[in-house]
Amino acid sequence: MSDLFEKIVSLSKRRGFIFQSSEIYGGLAATYDYGPLGVELKRNISQRWWNAMVQRHENISGLDAAILMHPTTWKASGHVDAFSDPLIDDKTSKMRYRADQLIEGHIDKLRRKGKDEDADRVYQALVDALNAEDAAKALYDIIMGEEIRSPDSGMFDWTEVRQFNLMFDTTIGPVSNPDNKIYLRPETAQGIFVNFHNVRETGRHQVPFGIAQIGKAFRNEIVARQFIFRMREFEQMEMQYFVKPGEQMEAFEQWREERMQWHLDNGIRPSKLRWHVHEKLAHYADAAQDIQYEFPIGWQEVEGIHSRTDFDLKAHQEYSGKKMEYFDPQTNEKYIPFVVETSVGLDRTVLTLLCEAYREEEVGGESRTVLKFHPRLAPITVGILPLVKKDGMPEMAHRIEDELRQHFSTSYDEKGAVGRRYRRLDEIGTPFCITVDGESVEEGSVTVRHRDTMHQDRIPAENLTAYLLGQIRDWKTS
Ligand code: ATP
Repeated sequence: MSDLFEKIVSLSKRRGFIFQSSEIYGGLAATYDYGPLGVELKRNISQRWWNAMVQRHENISGLDAAILMHPTTWKASGHVDAFSDPLIDDKTSKMRYRADQLIEGHIDKLRRKGKDEDADRVYQALVDALNAEDAAKALYDIIMGEEIRSPDSGMFDWTEVRQFNLMFDTTIGPVSNPDNKIYLRPETAQGIFVNFHNVRETGRHQVPFGIAQIGKAFRNEIVARQFIFRMREFEQMEMQYFVKPGEQMEAFEQWREERMQWHLDNGIRPSKLRWHVHEKLAHYADAAQDIQYEFPIGWQEVEGIHSRTDFDLKAHQEYSGKKMEYFDPQTNEKYIPFVVETSVGLDRTVLTLLCEAYREEEVGGESRTVLKFHPRLAPITVGILPLVKKDGMPEMAHRIEDELRQHFSTSYDEKGAVGRRYRRLDEIGTPFCITVDGESVEEGSVTVRHRDTMHQDRIPAENLTAYLLGQIRDWKTS
């Protein structure tokens, strides 16, 4: 793990953003709990997403489907047969790796050594292997041919490559037999597909329209050592947009644009975001691109935009025997709509924002750590600090907090030197601090300290709400 990444993990724990799950028992790998500040940050992000997707589009409705679904769902979707990672074990160290990632690591190494031609050749072989009938064998052949060694032990002592299904299963009801096996959903999308007609009819939608959902998904990830980047239990925010066949590329472009803008509006710098075109299209897709963020661990996916064709609805029609067709009243045609999906990880967005916001700065010879969250996302928007604990200052500060609480999330703090209190609030990303001093009690004005510039304004306490709302509305990311 990089230094910066470790600092973010440590701050997350120290300040109550994110804890290891079941920590008192030694933790459970790749599962995490959100603490008081983390839950606020996460909630602010999911609310912004819901607002951008559901509230602002008259033709998109929300859904909250169950995690447990009829097991045939996952036969139809292809997950039972094909939702797997190609894994290979180092026999010496017993460490397990994803074969495609080992090869990607080898390609990066060749590039760093200036061997671009070799890198291009192996890259092409990787693309071919991922698309091959027997991908496991093709990946194995590359590892053998290139003599790729284990990153941890340095040995060349591999097992075969095997496909490992990522779905968690359990049994439903009192009897444990294979017929009662069900799965924890590995994506939220299928809950949307099986409810296609329910939502269309009750929402009185005509194609094109969308269904949006935020919910948990579960994957038994094998290589999961990167904090909340790759978890076994995580949350997705997905929207499936149903269009007339042939109109999917137009919708794909529209959603590509809207979704990139959403990340920029969260305060992410444009230089930290890029598009990545899939080398291998999933079995259901006719176009797929990811939005990647430059994490301290490198460029990685945050969101996928996929054109899923009519694969899912068609498959559910076949497996359930229920028609998934739509009758288009405009053209009097019947068809199974095509689907463009936007799928973003909520936890991965939390991590993106933590990484983006984290800064260490020198101020007057001292260093400060600051999380530069956009004020709409910051877990706490305003800190209220009486300069000292006497002379009517705490009383006035409490009155101000009561008023501001109606509009913002607030934190009252009267303990210790005011400079230390500012530092603590900087470290959790609070964009504004109100300080109540002697003059405030006498004249009714307070200082507003701005987190990023540390500039202070003096304004009448009665104008605070309007002033802060204006600041948030006109916010520019620094
Ligand atoms: P990856 O290649 O990183 O495994 P994926 O392509 O399998 O991701 P999708 O199935 O497209 O991911 O899921 C959509 C989004 O869900 C991803 O962009 C990511 O933000 C999030 N996501 C997927 N798997 C995980 C996970 N194990 N932990 C946290 N978030 C995840």
